[in-house]
Amino acid sequence: MKPEARMATACVHSGEPRGEALGAVVPPIYESVTFDYVKGPIGDRYHYTRWRNPTVEALERKVATLEGTDTCLAFSSGMAAITTSLLSLLNRGDHLLAQRDLYGATFELITRKLPSFGIEVEVLEHDDLQSIGERFKQETKAVYLESPTNPLLRIVDFEKISTEAHEHNAIVLMDSTFGTPINQQPHRRGVDVVLHSATKYLNGHSDVVSGVAAISESIQKRLWEGRKLFGGVIDPLQSYFLLRGLKTLAARMRIHNENGIAVAEFLEDHPKVTRVYYPGLKDHPEHELAKSLMTGFGGMMSFEVKGGKEDAERVLEHLRVIRPATSLGGVESLASMPANSSHLFLKPEERQRAGIGDNLIRLSVGIEDPEDLKEDLGQALGTL
Ligand SMILES: *Cc1c(COP(=O)(O)O)cnc(C)c1O
Repeated sequence: MKPEARMATACVHSGEPRGEALGAVVPPIYESVTFDYVKGPIGDRYHYTRWRNPTVEALERKVATLEGTDTCLAFSSGMAAITTSLLSLLNRGDHLLAQRDLYGATFELITRKLPSFGIEVEVLEHDDLQSIGERFKQETKAVYLESPTNPLLRIVDFEKISTEAHEHNAIVLMDSTFGTPINQQPHRRGVDVVLHSATKYLNGHSDVVSGVAAISESIQKRLWEGRKLFGGVIDPLQSYFLLRGLKTLAARMRIHNENGIAVAEFLEDHPKVTRVYYPGLKDHPEHELAKSLMTGFGGMMSFEVKGGKEDAERVLEHLRVIRPATSLGGVESLASMPANSSHLFLKPEERQRAGIGDNLIRLSVGIEDPEDLKEDLGQALGTL
């Protein structure tokens, strides 16, 4: 395992080329599709940007340092990272164990697409993850997890599950988008493939769609080949934006963590809010587990308003500082209703089973002054 990096410094400096390109302090953008042919071994040089590109590789080095993995591959979206990873690691006849509480599109991919390729999928309820050890079969090749979950902020004991999976020679993939490498480092606790929608916190400015898979060297070849064939590569310019966004990740997360707890406590005490889902609150059912796996709880939370869908819509309509938009992890606060955004394409009974009500609002707390956010939520909830 790689030695632990000092995160704020690693965010700024790691992965960046030194002594290249006239000594430029800011990494150059190699916005080139192809590179001159040079005689010699094929592995040492750049050829074609769908294979590899120096700006993309700077990004990949930075993320690998932050996650403590050997290496990393970057993709054109979080879903490209997730799909490419699953399709590269699984074959017809393999068995996949997956939790039910997943990002909507991931759930669709796993339950609708993978079975059509002959991959057997078994979906586990949150409470059944405790006894996941009994579910492994000869054919079980992988376990797919997400923690904290979108949108109910459930916490999964990925350390324990990784130990069990490895006893059965299964690979563990986990979506760590809500966690960020600042608040949790799943690879240090056994997760083999750490996935992110880099669209969210890693980039942090809501202006790039992208994804990453931080991985061990032993998996690199299979995933690299998958990316080359499926083609979900990230553009060098987008990689540069991400490199820039990542420089402030540790600094941004400090504020997201502080604002997150302040806003969650405010909502918890509000008479028009019936329930708050935030792992940093003492009455979150997995608060103790969250404290053991995470060093901060981030800016993501969900809450139920008194009433139904119209009441939740009313709150969104009246927000003035917080923007009523889907997505998350940017410097600006965003609020959305999972039932009509991230989980829209699930069947109503699938949403119900996942505990996603029509009165649920998901809030991505940004880096604004927390007093402004509390005031804004207060006035919008006051219209109910
Ligand atoms: C947004 C998101 C994704 C999908 O990422 P895209 O970049 O939109 O493809 C996957 N997982 C989680 C937890 C997300 O929030």
